[in-house]
Amino acid sequence: MDNLAFLSLGSNLDDRLSYLREAVELLRQHDKIEVTNVSSLYETEPVGYTDQGKFLNLAVKLHTALSAEELLKVCQDIEQQLGRKRIIRWGPRTIDLDILLYNQDNIESDDLSVPHPRMHERAFVIIPLLEIEPHIKLPSGEENLQDVLARIPDKEGVRLWKRKNGEDAFAHLGN
Ligand code: ATP
Ligand code: CA
Ligand code: CA
Repeated sequence: MDNLAFLSLGSNLDDRLSYLREAVELLRQHDKIEVTNVSSLYETEPVGYTDQGKFLNLAVKLHTALSAEELLKVCQDIEQQLGRKRIIRWGPRTIDLDILLYNQDNIESDDLSVPHPRMHERAFVIIPLLEIEPHIKLPSGEENLQDVLARIPDKEGVRLWKRKNGEDAFAHLGN
């Protein structure tokens, strides 16, 4: 489990908490993934395509023996398993799993960009991420995330929805 990765998860259809709980559970069950931390749950006004319900978002920290490409495949399998359908770009979805960071790697392939290219504009990604990793290291050349967050205008669209319980990293998900 030599590789350190951070994911962003979001859901805005049906029982959002159940989808997030299931997705985290599926990650935890994978024998090449060790989930070491999960952020509080945040409720977020939709951005991009705004005619849709609010999202619940959280960030996940994990160690893994998988390559970044393999981790992406696992994320996409979980999306499929939880019934995600791609209809509208940035539209409603049962569950979305994005890879934010994978070690200190810069990856640019046809199906994978890491660090996630739009994370720097998204308070709903950065706020949960900084909660679990306040001193997060980014690949060199990337600006400090606290500074990035300070510049984002739509931070008030991200509200704490369910605070994580200090003792058990997963209790707030109902696991
Ligand atoms: P956004 O990427 O802006 O958050 P989205 O999550 O709605 O939008 P999707 O439809 O879930 O977009 O994904 C589109 C494609 O993005 C995927 O097929 C995947 O190959 C690609 N992709 C590139 N980089 C990443 C990454 N870091 N994590 C997840 N998917 C990625
Ligand atoms: Ca996304
Ligand atoms: Ca995605």
